[in-house]
Amino acid sequence: MVSTLRTHHNRLLIEMLSRESDVERFLSKLKLVGYCWEWQGSRYPSGYGKATVNGEQTGAHRASFTLFCGDPGGLSVLHKCDNKPCARPQHLFLGTAKDNALDASAKGLLSRQGKEGKRAKTLTSYEVYFMKLLFSRGWLPKRVSTYYGISKSMAEAIRLGTAWSDIHCPYPPLFKNRRAALVST
Ligand SMILES: [Zn+2]
Repeated sequence: MVSTLRTHHNRLLIEMLSRESDVERFLSKLKLVGYCWEWQGSRYPSGYGKATVNGEQTGAHRASFTLFCGDPGGLSVLHKCDNKPCARPQHLFLGTAKDNALDASAKGLLSRQGKEGKRAKTLTSYEVYFMKLLFSRGWLPKRVSTYYGISKSMAEAIRLGTAWSDIHCPYPPLFKNRRAALVST
């Protein structure tokens, strides 16, 4: 069952994708804390980040999922890291409200990793995939390195394809005026 409210939110978020200024404003409110991208704007009483899109409010994690991964449809966007203000796409997954109640035991894995191994230098292919997505939106290596806690030179190598050349961004550059040097083959 897809609520009309949720469908409405999805449409707003998809609209946001078409406006670079909205995307920038949204992403500028996410900050790397441990392994998470914590929402620096206002929050709902429940702890989730509150993003404003087109003058209307929606969950920051839901906005992030839509931005990076696509329309979540009628499903809930859930956290692997159990950190409600987090909107890092790698920490989000889709499920039902029932899943949200049941997966408590599975949660905490990422947050434990964060405590034990902050700034681990080993990246996953999933993370590299999202970095390339950011590069495709015109992000510079310095900014990406800040979000991922890696060196600027590593970010640059990923952008140029001298590192992780087997991971490709599936999306064309979102904004025509900012074509990034993506690896194409
Ligand atoms: Zn997180």
